[in-house]
Amino acid sequence: MDPDVKLSDIRFLQPKGWSLLARAVAANRVAGTYLISGKEGLGHWQMAVSFAALLNCRTRQEIDGIPAPCGECASCHQIAGINSPALNIVLPIPSHKDLKEAIDLTNESLEYKRKEPFWILSSTSQLTVPIDMAREVKRRLAMKGDQDSTRVVLFYQMEKMLHASADALLKMIEEPPADTVILLTAEKAETLLPTIRSRAQLIRLERIKPQLCAEYLAGHYSLSPEKAMLYAQVTDGNLGRAVELAADEDHDDISQRATGFLLFKSLFLEPAPEAISRMLEFTTNRGEAESLLLFWGSLVRDCASYAVAGDDEQIINRDYTVDIKKLSQSFADPEVASAMTEQIKNTLADMRRNVHIQPSVAALALRLGAAIKTAR
Ligand SMILES: [Zn+2]
Repeated sequence: MDPDVKLSDIRFLQPKGWSLLARAVAANRVAGTYLISGKEGLGHWQMAVSFAALLNCRTRQEIDGIPAPCGECASCHQIAGINSPALNIVLPIPSHKDLKEAIDLTNESLEYKRKEPFWILSSTSQLTVPIDMAREVKRRLAMKGDQDSTRVVLFYQMEKMLHASADALLKMIEEPPADTVILLTAEKAETLLPTIRSRAQLIRLERIKPQLCAEYLAGHYSLSPEKAMLYAQVTDGNLGRAVELAADEDHDDISQRATGFLLFKSLFLEPAPEAISRMLEFTTNRGEAESLLLFWGSLVRDCASYAVAGDDEQIINRDYTVDIKKLSQSFADPEVASAMTEQIKNTLADMRRNVHIQPSVAALALRLGAAIKTAR
C-alpha cells in the first residue's frame, strides 16, 4: 500500500457529495451534523477526512470554483495522517475489557485506514461502535479547543452503535459544541434512529466510475493498467472492494478469479460474441478450462443455495457475496441450477476425454446462457 494518500482524491471519486460539503464551507454555511451514506467501500472515510482537512486548511485552494484542502500545510498533513486534535474518530471495534483496550483496538484500525482510506474494516468477531470511546471524545470536546480550528468528530459506521448508546449521544449530535462538526457514516440512513437521522444533513455516496477506480488503483498500487481496470470492473465501482483485490499479494490467482467471475456474469447477459471470444482467450489449454469450469460450478452452487436459504453465511466465494446475491435472483427455479451443474459436469467429462477444449467451452457458454434465459 502506498501511504502517500492524497486528500484530493475524493473530489474526483465522489464529485457530488464533495461539492455539497465544499460549497457549504465556501458559503460559510456548514451544518452541525452530516450523515454520509452509501455502500461500504465508496469513500465515507476519505470524504470525512478530506472535509476535516478543508475545514482546517490554512491555505485553501479553489479548483473549478470548488474549494479543496491544499494538502501541503501543517494542518492538512496532520489530518491526512489521522494525527490531529481537530479530528476525533470513533469506529467499530471487537468487544474489549476497558477503555485502554478500546483505544488500542481503535488505533489498530486507524493504522489500516491511514494507509488506505478505502480499506473496508472487517473482523471475524462482532464489531460495535463503543460508547466508552464516544464518552472519551465527548470529554475531550468539553475541553477548550484551539481557537482557530474546527473540530470534527467522526462516528464511523454509526449503524454499528447500539441504539441505547446512540441515544446517549443525542444531545451532542443535535447541538454540537461550538466550532465542532459531527460526521456520521452508515451504509443505509434508515438503520439509524430517526431522531439522529432527522438532525443530520444527508450526503449520499455513489457508485464510482470504473475508469476512476482503475486510475486510483494504478496510482496507489503496483498494478498494470489492465489489471487495475479488471479489478475496477469486477467490483462494479466499489473502490473498497477493488482495493482488497489490489492489496492481495497473490495477484495472478486473484486476477484469474476476477476474470473467471466476469465471464460467469457475462452468461447472464445476452451471450455476446465478445464474451465468448474472451472465454476462448482465457481457456487456451485444458488446465485453464477445467479450473474455470470448476469455479463456475461453485458459483452456481452459491447462487442456488442463496436463492433457497437466503443465508449469506453459506456462500463459499465470499469475495463475490454481493454479486452472488444479485445473480441468485435468476435461480428461483431450482431447475436452473441443476441444468447448469449438469452441463458443466458433462463438459468437464468431455474435456477429460480429449475433445477440443475451446469449442466445448463455447458450446457450454451458449447452453448455460440458454438455461438462464428460460428461467426468466
Ligand atoms: Zn492545507
